[in-house]
Amino acid sequence: MPPIVGLVQAPLFLEHRRDGHPERPERLVAIAAELERTGLSGAFRNLDARPASREELLLAHDAAHLDQVGRLTSGPPVMLDEDTYANEHTWRAAVCAAGGAVDLTAAVLRGELDRGLALVRPPGHHATPSRTMGFCVFNNVAVAARAAQAMAVGGGAPAKPRIAVVDFDVHHGNGTQDIFYDDPSVLFISLHQFPLWPGTGWLTEAGDGAALGLNVNIPLPPGTGDGGLRAAVGRIVLPALRRFAPELLIISGGWDAHWRDPLAQLQYTLSGYAWACRQLVQAADELCGGRVVTVLEGGYDTEVLAVGVANLARALLGRDEQDDPFGTGTAGEADAEAILQRLERAPDGGG
Ligand SMILES: [Zn+2]
Repeated sequence: MPPIVGLVQAPLFLEHRRDGHPERPERLVAIAAELERTGLSGAFRNLDARPASREELLLAHDAAHLDQVGRLTSGPPVMLDEDTYANEHTWRAAVCAAGGAVDLTAAVLRGELDRGLALVRPPGHHATPSRTMGFCVFNNVAVAARAAQAMAVGGGAPAKPRIAVVDFDVHHGNGTQDIFYDDPSVLFISLHQFPLWPGTGWLTEAGDGAALGLNVNIPLPPGTGDGGLRAAVGRIVLPALRRFAPELLIISGGWDAHWRDPLAQLQYTLSGYAWACRQLVQAADELCGGRVVTVLEGGYDTEVLAVGVANLARALLGRDEQDDPFGTGTAGEADAEAILQRLERAPDGGG
């Protein structure tokens, strides 16, 4: 039987916009068109995106952050920080992005859905407990993970379910790292270009206290392509997932590590991305009953993003085919071997 995959989409996510900004509604429009064109859109079970409650947002953010965002988004369009904009629709879009991710994750954890895909904006992985950052208002993945854990415990389960978050956006998921840094119930793995904005994500940022070793950064040099991606997933990500043995996998999905993306310098292809997505879905099958939820983060070449998400959708739906109309970039591939060897030698962050 094909897996039941939930999909969160809403017209509301197109209303958050600012002229000329790369994090634009056309990203979601392109994805929706591609899912339609390929006939994939009919294969999902659609879920509404309801607003996350204040209580849910407080699981990942402090009250001052919520109040500050609420104040700033209640007036005319404004910059919340140097990169993150808001208009009159931003508050509603941001709380529904988080709420949609919560409902999807909770439904997968309860077994009502096998897998989930949240196509939401604004993205989340740079939002820290206390501030907006890098186009992100609330950390959708972190709110979803914490809220799903809370619901599971409330249902009489003996302990919080362990959740692994894998972030393959080209930028370091600094906000997610901050939120879970000392939380032993969550494994966070980020593959990203380094150096690159926001400047964090080095090997030695490995978690704290009981969570030491549960924050795994894979800082890849500019120019790293599919060879480095495959090596990083095979030698670092999958072994770390197996050691942790999560009960649910959440993917922070960003397609800005593709060679065509205008914001960074990694050289992945869509074939490389599709391979990585299939590996993660297979890891979920092997480790946690196939329970995997993907939440959209970055990806600023809309054509690449659309096909990349369609390939991910196929992986979630258990289909083998993939599409890569763009092939390989012309730049040579950088060597990530030194970083990978350091991570293999010190999987708990001693590197
Ligand atoms: Zn990014």
